[in-house]
Amino acid sequence: MRGMEAPLLLLQQRPSSPATGEPRTDDQAREGAGARLACHRCLSVVTDSSQRIAVGGAHAHRFVNPHGFEFHVGCFADAGGCVAVGEASTYWSWFPGFAWQIELCAGCGEHLGWLFRSADALFHGLIVDRLVEVAMD
Ligand SMILES: [Zn+2]
Repeated sequence: MRGMEAPLLLLQQRPSSPATGEPRTDDQAREGAGARLACHRCLSVVTDSSQRIAVGGAHAHRFVNPHGFEFHVGCFADAGGCVAVGEASTYWSWFPGFAWQIELCAGCGEHLGWLFRSADALFHGLIVDRLVEVAMD
């Protein structure tokens, strides 16, 4: 399924909008649950798969930045291995109503994604290609 067509419209809804009528089905029951997700460069743990959330109806989105680079971004409720840097900006925000800040790996400084924040919500949009799954031991 291609995700590009609709996400910006769907995003007009709240991430956990009751309008969808869908109960929050936890991802825990799905395959890969509990896998740690680490920085691809230094292997510091960034988050884990149970933090995956859907924003605007999907967990993963493809976006293009103003320079034409395409990013495959997954949404996470929490990402303790990231540090947000710089000032929050609403310029070219992929999620309407959300300001973003760049997020770097706390271990090595690699750019891993963005922190998105609105008046009443916050999530992490992480670049899927820059995370690797690390099995729990
Ligand atoms: Zn790193």
